[in-house]
Amino acid sequence: DGTQRLHNFSAGPGTLPTSVLQEVRDELPVYGTAGASIMEISHRSADYDAVEQSARRHLRRLLGLGDDWHILFLQGGASMQFHQVPLNFLPPDGHADYVLTGRWSVKALREAKLLGTAHTAATAEDTDFTTIPDRDTWDLSPEAAYLHITSNNTVHGTQFSGDPEAEVPIVTDASSEILSRPMNLDPYGLIYAGAQKNMGPAGVTVVLIRDSFLARRNDDLPTMLDYGTHAERRFNTPPVFPIYVVEKVLRWLRDQGGVEAMHTLNQQKAALLYNRIDRTDFYEGIVARNARSTMNPVFRLHDDALQPRFLQEAKAEGLVNLKGHRSVGGLRASLYNALPMEAVEALVDFMDAFEQRHG
Ligand code: PLP
Repeated sequence: DGTQRLHNFSAGPGTLPTSVLQEVRDELPVYGTAGASIMEISHRSADYDAVEQSARRHLRRLLGLGDDWHILFLQGGASMQFHQVPLNFLPPDGHADYVLTGRWSVKALREAKLLGTAHTAATAEDTDFTTIPDRDTWDLSPEAAYLHITSNNTVHGTQFSGDPEAEVPIVTDASSEILSRPMNLDPYGLIYAGAQKNMGPAGVTVVLIRDSFLARRNDDLPTMLDYGTHAERRFNTPPVFPIYVVEKVLRWLRDQGGVEAMHTLNQQKAALLYNRIDRTDFYEGIVARNARSTMNPVFRLHDDALQPRFLQEAKAEGLVNLKGHRSVGGLRASLYNALPMEAVEALVDFMDAFEQRHG
């Protein structure tokens, strides 16, 4: 009847836990004892401060961030980070290395090149970004200021397996996989992620920076674009409402058992869907098997002409936002943390039934 929550496979913004949305709804007009909503009170108030501190505490615990990591809540999306990273860390007389694994890393490289010298250490462009270049083939320089990767490629449905090693600090765009698995933080200098896939609503970008990496940044940066400004103090009005929702999602994640439990569940969800895709020739996976993303499985129907029907009949079953990115086509079922196993089971059942009807 149009008022019910459906199984939402959207790639971004992604689905959020229903319990979090209900809590937000209940607290919307009056937050705690503030006598107003969280949106209407000072970002310097004790009420808001407690929310932000709690979000930091939960992130630190969930990801195992030590005291040498700064947690920043910035605006401008992950796209702003494409520029802010090289602005801060690409030295005027040096260079950075970039591994290109899709549309977003190409955009990141473009911004770096506007500011200085950026070298393509590896690219999957020759396979239409259906692979992750083999680590042994990366052309890395020990003099690079940093190595930039995109650890999960939302559009193409590929993902690095684990955390790569490099001699220089790695900067990763983890927008579409952050908090979906435990991370080995050792190789990283900076991790960034728009909140709107796995953490909350659009409007806040989480940036994690190791203190020793932060210390290497360029001089004379514009105040708002200098990570140091935000690492030192709360400089201006933060995106209060998105941070408030992120805090609830982080608490929800803790209650689910944290990133280890979530990783196990995410692997089970992805395996269920990929096994269904592989079971017959009716459906086809698009990317290399060893590069398959747990977060954004991309696939298609062997008979492409059936796709509009697939989407229409799926929608009638309450399964929505399954269309692939316009640049790739086909289908994409994003399986972010908040998407329950039941949703994947419902999708797989639907895929079976659809094949029976049209196969
Ligand atoms: N990086 C990745 C991996 C993404 O999936 C997206 C998605 O939109 C972006 C960057 C761009 O993020 P934003 O829209 O927050 O700028």
